[in-house]
Amino acid sequence: MSEAWQQRLADARANRQQTQRWRTRQVAKSNILDFAGNDYLGLSQDPRVCEAQAAGARRYGAGAGASHLVSGHLEIHDALEGALASWTGRERALLFSTGYMANIGVLQALADRHTAIFQDRLNHASLIDGAALSGARSRRFHHRDTDDLESLLSRSESTHKLVVSDGVFSMDGDIADIEALVTAAQRHNAWLMVDDAHGIGVLGDNGSGCVGSNWSSVDVPILVGTLGKALGTVGAFVAGDAELIDHLTQFSRSYVYTTAQPPAIAAATLKALAIVQEEPEHRTRLNANIAYFRREAGLRAAA
Ligand SMILES: *Cc1c(COP(=O)(O)O)cnc(C)c1O
Repeated sequence: MSEAWQQRLADARANRQQTQRWRTRQVAKSNILDFAGNDYLGLSQDPRVCEAQAAGARRYGAGAGASHLVSGHLEIHDALEGALASWTGRERALLFSTGYMANIGVLQALADRHTAIFQDRLNHASLIDGAALSGARSRRFHHRDTDDLESLLSRSESTHKLVVSDGVFSMDGDIADIEALVTAAQRHNAWLMVDDAHGIGVLGDNGSGCVGSNWSSVDVPILVGTLGKALGTVGAFVAGDAELIDHLTQFSRSYVYTTAQPPAIAAATLKALAIVQEEPEHRTRLNANIAYFRREAGLRAAA
């Protein structure tokens, strides 16, 4: 390695370590009680989901073999997209390989340097990165502060404004005020994008999240959900009107230029989704556990 490169890596390491931010991994053990993961309903371990994945692999193979627009879009992907769209009350849904890729793909496909993006300060890193990649002018408003958002929106002269927020915030676990975001966005002719990675499968009457069937695509035109958290598999989707989904299919580079999700994962996800829809008791139990934990830990009830 050249000396300049060695120095660069050494400096970065020293800086991280001095500021106590050096990250380490641990091999997860199976005999522990996990309070850190996102498998909120235990579906990654559900025997029915595991069997659907095994059956999916036997039927379709271990991988999709190509990107969606070439020959990797199989009937099982199509079925999953249809199920996700109707679950969230949207016209269509589009599968992505991960939530990170969905967010950078949506922002890069919709925004350019003439777009103004307004993000909550605590939004997920993939939304921050997507905005940077798009080249849009990006502003961040104070966490859950729609007054701050409104003042930024009213000062913007951009014809294309996009408001972006996590649904359930991944850092603090609090929930966006969707109603206030919808009102602010509509007042300023902005589109609203909500990334409900942590709400999907957990919140809402049918488990479709804090936006899902509560808010239509008129109010929240762009809804992102992930499959690797409560649904227990991996991947993500964007749900919205056909016009939006067509646009993403054409222009989202992280959709077009990547191998489709393994079909067995789509099969497992369809099963997990059916369980979420047919067995609300898993959500009920999760909520009871959350309430119990908060009570015993002396925490206030969740917002
Ligand atoms: C976890 C998370 C993502 C990333 O999803 P992956 O499928 O793990 O890439 C995106 N947005 C939010 C808010 C998340 O919490």
